[in-house]
Amino acid sequence: MMVEKRSTPEWQAADTDNYLHPFTDYKELAKELALIIDRGQGCYVWDADGNKYLDGLAGLACVQVGYGRRELVDAATQQLSQLSFFNSFFKSSNKPAIQLAEKLVEITPSGLNHVFYVNDGSEANDTCIRLARHYWALEGRPEKQIVIAREFGYHGSTIASAQLSGMPFMHEQAASIPGFAHIETAYQFMHGRGMSEEDYGVKAASRLEDKIIELGPDNVAAFVAEPLHGAGGGKMPPHNYWKEIQNICKKYDVLLVIDEVVSGFGRTGEWFGSDTYGIESIDLMCLAKGITSGYVPLGAVMIGDRIADTLINKGGEFHHGFTYSGHPVTCAVALANIGVIEDEKLIENVKTNTALHLAERLQEISAHPIVGEVRSCGMMGAVELVADKETLSPLEPVGEVGEAFKPLGLRNGIITRPVGETILLTPPLTITNEEIDFLMNRFLLTLNDFHKHISNE
Ligand code: PMP
Repeated sequence: MMVEKRSTPEWQAADTDNYLHPFTDYKELAKELALIIDRGQGCYVWDADGNKYLDGLAGLACVQVGYGRRELVDAATQQLSQLSFFNSFFKSSNKPAIQLAEKLVEITPSGLNHVFYVNDGSEANDTCIRLARHYWALEGRPEKQIVIAREFGYHGSTIASAQLSGMPFMHEQAASIPGFAHIETAYQFMHGRGMSEEDYGVKAASRLEDKIIELGPDNVAAFVAEPLHGAGGGKMPPHNYWKEIQNICKKYDVLLVIDEVVSGFGRTGEWFGSDTYGIESIDLMCLAKGITSGYVPLGAVMIGDRIADTLINKGGEFHHGFTYSGHPVTCAVALANIGVIEDEKLIENVKTNTALHLAERLQEISAHPIVGEVRSCGMMGAVELVADKETLSPLEPVGEVGEAFKPLGLRNGIITRPVGETILLTPPLTITNEEIDFLMNRFLLTLNDFHKHISNE
């Protein structure tokens, strides 16, 4: 069925009548009505009324190569004609899935030589929990069950990945299950004021050691974390944090699971956040989002050699997988997407050019009276809003004020993402310096509008 012609209010009315959106307050949505996005090209999207926005969010931190790329559309349509679907169960396979597995092994950090396909980031994290516990059971240590993650971590919304996420408001909604523990994250702005970066890095990492000792190393299966927080508000660790964390995982024989769902595929100015932060001894790595630039859903788990060896040699049948694991169309799109990233040297351009410009433009607004801190890494920026620049006291009520930033940004033609009182920017990797200027000029306007808005309340 082709999409019908209707007025925007008609679409909005039908939207509220029939469609329950993810992560949405339905009563609020019914009052405010949905922003219906209708078209995308490059770094821009247009709503159903034709208003144009620079997408500082890249869809949801995933549209690395920008919208409307012919290469990805052609890859999808060719593969849809060639083989629209066949399963990968029962000893079947397909060419795009095989070729993509080779490519992922090539571009991910060394020691990750096998791929397990899933549909998204939540399933990738869920699969890691399953793999970690299964690995220890196969190694004769079935009591190693507990998975440790971090406050502010976001790992998905299946029951297990929601429990893994460090978001208590998710646990409260029927996602609380045993076998998980959380530690304070590396967030110097909040937890390490006045300390040197080096000292704070050691302190933040020691939270993991404390927790492993508290739970008993014999009970801990894995530690799961993003190299830097995405959905948790662009929180970036001290430079020595990950070295310390890797040593602790080795010391206590705890598997290291790295969630690269947001940080992967060039977001940090390297292929993976792990490359940026020197994370090398990785047992499992979650991929999704940028793997296809969001054109079609795909996720994957990269499996380290020690787990793969055990799974292959001691595991028998692995009773896990999804109908669409290794879908030929999504794998073909991923190959085309990685091809664009490589051919256009997008990651090199981020690292040596646009990331520097974004960082500079963010620094400029750090002088603003309600900006407490700005952070950036590659094509991710975060602006921490505060009530008082001197004392860094938060805007009250905490967690409710930042939401007003987004609609003000829309009026200024930019899409941003408030996470509490932190405004997150994750534009497409294709963004040019001129577009960064537009984004940041409009950001500053929005910041002033927001300042007025909260001063008048
Ligand atoms: N991990 C991270 C780091 C994420 O940011 C997300 C989604 N924002 C997920 C996992 C879950 O991915 P999905 O929404 O595709 O299930």
